[in-house]
Amino acid sequence: MGAHNTELATIAGWIRAAQAVVALTGAGISTESGIPDFRGPQGVWTKDPSAERRATLQHYLADRDARVAAWRSRLRGGLIQGAKPNAGHYAFAALDAKQKLSLLITQNVDGLHLDAGSPRERLIEIHGTARDYACLECGDRGPIEAVLERVRAGEDDPACRRCGGILKSATISFGQNLVAADLRRAEEGAAACDVFLAVGTSLAVYPVALLPQTALRNGARLIIINAQETPYDAYADAVIRGQIGEVLPALVSVV
Ligand code: ZN
Repeated sequence: MGAHNTELATIAGWIRAAQAVVALTGAGISTESGIPDFRGPQGVWTKDPSAERRATLQHYLADRDARVAAWRSRLRGGLIQGAKPNAGHYAFAALDAKQKLSLLITQNVDGLHLDAGSPRERLIEIHGTARDYACLECGDRGPIEAVLERVRAGEDDPACRRCGGILKSATISFGQNLVAADLRRAEEGAAACDVFLAVGTSLAVYPVALLPQTALRNGARLIIINAQETPYDAYADAVIRGQIGEVLPALVSVV
């Protein structure tokens, strides 16, 4: 069992002493920005599992109506329009500014780590980003606003202008593989770090949930900050259950 009430000062000491710190964030860090956690106890998919099936890539490819509905929803801004980073996101930018964060991996597609100032070169948006579109055929990609403009002008299921393929937001849907290069970089980061910080993630979505295991196997300390239990709590060096927007800035201020 890890020491579950480890003082923040002790954890800060581990981070200060580390050669490489890698962090993984999940939905829990963005709920304080008003973005719902789809898999949490009150999550959209927990309450309506059919909504999760509708979110699969196969469904999107096979059903034009699903694409039309998806573009209409994206036009409304989905669930993330207007969301602003919160104290948790800013704390990660501050940790980076202290040169104590070698890699930030996020499962979120909301772009809020970038808005908070975390540098793109040390950020992996492992489940993609809702801010870009991508062609599922040729891989063409750009700001989603360019496609939303076409939807506004009357195209209800805009096709790729390069190849005629199906366009989607550049997020990873169920049934869609992660970007191999991103996953490899995340795995290498986890294998090489001395401290792995998991924040606001249930550590239940694979393959991302294997990253703490990789870190532990290579001798890293594991620190978990999450509202709910995770499968890794028993293996962690410290588990904190508090509000991320309070705990993380307090921790980073003493690093
Ligand atoms: Zn294309």
